[in-house]
Amino acid sequence: MPTIDELIASVDRARDEVVQLLQDLVRIPTINVGPRPDTGNETRACELVQAKFREAGISSQVLESVPGRGNLVARMAGGEGQRLLFMSHTDVVPVEDETLWEHPPFSGTIDRGRIYGRGADDDKADVVAHAMGLILLQRGGVRLGGELIYLAAADEESGGRWGAGWMAEQYPEKIRADVAINEGGGNPIRTPNGVLYPICSGEKSRLEARLTRKGRSGHASRPWTADNPVPVMAEVVGRIMAYAPEVDVSHPFFREVLQALGIDQDPNAENIDRICDSLAGREALATTLKASSRMTITPTMVNAGVKSNSIPDRAHVVCDVRGLPGQDDRYVRAELEHISSGLGMDIDVDYTAVSNASPDDSPFVDLAGQALGSALGDQDFRLVPALTVGFTDSRFVRPLGAQVYGFGPHHPSAEPNRAGVHGNNEFMEIESLMLRTKFAVALACLTLGVA
Ligand SMILES: [Zn+2]
Repeated sequence: MPTIDELIASVDRARDEVVQLLQDLVRIPTINVGPRPDTGNETRACELVQAKFREAGISSQVLESVPGRGNLVARMAGGEGQRLLFMSHTDVVPVEDETLWEHPPFSGTIDRGRIYGRGADDDKADVVAHAMGLILLQRGGVRLGGELIYLAAADEESGGRWGAGWMAEQYPEKIRADVAINEGGGNPIRTPNGVLYPICSGEKSRLEARLTRKGRSGHASRPWTADNPVPVMAEVVGRIMAYAPEVDVSHPFFREVLQALGIDQDPNAENIDRICDSLAGREALATTLKASSRMTITPTMVNAGVKSNSIPDRAHVVCDVRGLPGQDDRYVRAELEHISSGLGMDIDVDYTAVSNASPDDSPFVDLAGQALGSALGDQDFRLVPALTVGFTDSRFVRPLGAQVYGFGPHHPSAEPNRAGVHGNNEFMEIESLMLRTKFAVALACLTLGVA
């Protein structure tokens, strides 16, 4: 039976294969245009990975929620110990303007040690790192003490109804686990006091709030005859932008990060924005800290009128709302009623995702730290619990009984401001992809034990 170090060495020897698999996967445009069944085409991506599993002798299944929308599940049998789930998603967000990309977005071009393409980072790197983890364990002849389960889901980017949400509903037994690793987290924060790795134990909620102001239509040549809802909309948008949400910096992430950065002020609701604004060159970290400390209400769609000479009889504004754990739909509604008081708004609030969490501290988090140490070949870093400010498929798997952590480690040398995810020029460093594959191998051995 190989040792963890020998297995990690086998990842290094498989470097070309790991890189090639991510390039090939990026070249399959699994574009998800929205919450509808006829998009994504994830089955093609599943089949590519499934062929690799088949070659290695790992059993897997592609389960389609609708034709073309496959979810790939694989498992490596083990002893009677815990079950560990590696979860990821194969769909990607659309490319808005291809001409703004340095390399064609579905080319998988390698440049400066990076693999470029839509989905290279979010989330095909996990699809590949986890799959190659299973494959290298199998080739190494490792017999695990518990079961290792693999899920590469469809439709994460539009809410998971045809992906992990569907799997949790239709085939919960196929993905039920004790502990799981998902996307998010893992972006190293280099500080004068060492490297910190955020591991996401929880995530914010996402809600959609629609505010409607009814008015009375009329001819625009005689505006006094009508009740125009448009200026009222302008007023409510102004108030939303001026809204000061409750700020909560009690999460351990704030203190740990600021201490490591050598900032000796204790973070509090009053000083956190000033501290964030002083983090020059660390924009991604600053916005993560801000978004982790408060609910955000962001107007994203405004709509009124059908003809330029008619005063409309109603106007709407739709807001994206991201709530901290504990801030439910009733809280959001009450805040919006307060913000818009006196303006005669009808308010609808709907959940896209409820906030959800696993414990900040757990033996599994410690094992993730050990696995990262083995993968990096040094222990000169610290894991810190953090919050995912977006939402992920974790919310479908936590209710099935698993402790789920968002942790896709990047190499300490990786670019910290990763603007390419959901933007232009998305890429994944080869070093990070290799690190993540090593982490997967080490985590499986440490969590499940080797029989
Ligand atoms: Zn993602």
